[in-house]
Amino acid sequence: EASAEVIDGKAVAKQIRDEITDEVSRMKEAIGVIPGLAVILVGDRKDSATYVRNKKKACESVGINSFEVHLPEDTTEQEVLTHISVFNDNPSVHGILVQLPLPSHMNEQNVLNAIKIEKDVDGFHPLNIGRLAMRGREPLFVPCTPKGCIELLHRYGVSLKGKRAVVIGRSNIVGMPAALLLQREDATVSVVHSRTNNPEEITRQADLIISAVGQPNMVRGSWIKPGAVIIDVGINPVDDINSPRGYRLVGDVCYEEACKVASAITPVPGGVGPMTIAMLLQNTLISAERIYNFH
Ligand code: NDP
Repeated sequence: EASAEVIDGKAVAKQIRDEITDEVSRMKEAIGVIPGLAVILVGDRKDSATYVRNKKKACESVGINSFEVHLPEDTTEQEVLTHISVFNDNPSVHGILVQLPLPSHMNEQNVLNAIKIEKDVDGFHPLNIGRLAMRGREPLFVPCTPKGCIELLHRYGVSLKGKRAVVIGRSNIVGMPAALLLQREDATVSVVHSRTNNPEEITRQADLIISAVGQPNMVRGSWIKPGAVIIDVGINPVDDINSPRGYRLVGDVCYEEACKVASAITPVPGGVGPMTIAMLLQNTLISAERIYNFH
């Protein structure tokens, strides 16, 4: 029985972190600058706190400075804007990230717009997204999760030119920028979302599927063209009495079924997740190098 190649995001992310470590120390020795990332977390969501902790640890592991501000749930939008403004002006900070989602009393757009575009390492500023969408224009930063997906495909030698790609999901942070990036790679791109009729008819035509939905095991084996490459962005907790935590994480794609049809697939966990953090570190390094014109 055919079995798909496992795309090892954890190993590739480790390799990229090692490259970043070398580059950070080269920069420090040459010009005495250490890249710095500022992370703003508002409220007490457990998942957000975990993501922020992981980002901080990842920074330390490659020698990037991290600055963290943790604000209570009832913080005003103005207070968050003030923190952003201070980081915008701080020369030791080269990247600023606001952990999403924000509490519902805040306007996410106002907050994201306040980040100086030169420090927008998440790549969510409308100017960055606009440039990503336009031919002949270059964004300063590409959003980390979709960038990580494309980087995985490159490092596994998957060619995208002229291929049919289907992105499932159209969120601002994953699905939409993933579709834009694939187009820049000369793939022919379709986007499937919650209002799409018969999504499986569309996915079955795809040489490549990137799924970013948030529904466990939604993409069945029968949705996949034999030999397709599958990038599963979904991170979904499902009950599991055999796990000490009472749950385990699965993707959007039914892994057991997909393995029998696809030629290559990312696991969850250990696929796209580690790549997202590696790309955040890379964007922070790129930012510092650009600000100091160091290459
Ligand atoms: P959102 O909830 O913002 O977007 C989900 C998208 O999926 C929407 O566009 C929605 O359509 C679409 N969708 C929902 N249900 C269906 C359905 N039944 N059929 C087809 N499309 C559907 O999620 P995110 O993009 O933020 O995240 C998606 C997943 O990726 C989550 O599991 C999240 O945890 C994970 N994630 C993983 C990251 C990583 O580093 N690996 C980083 C970020 C997210 P519509 O637009 O019509 O509502």
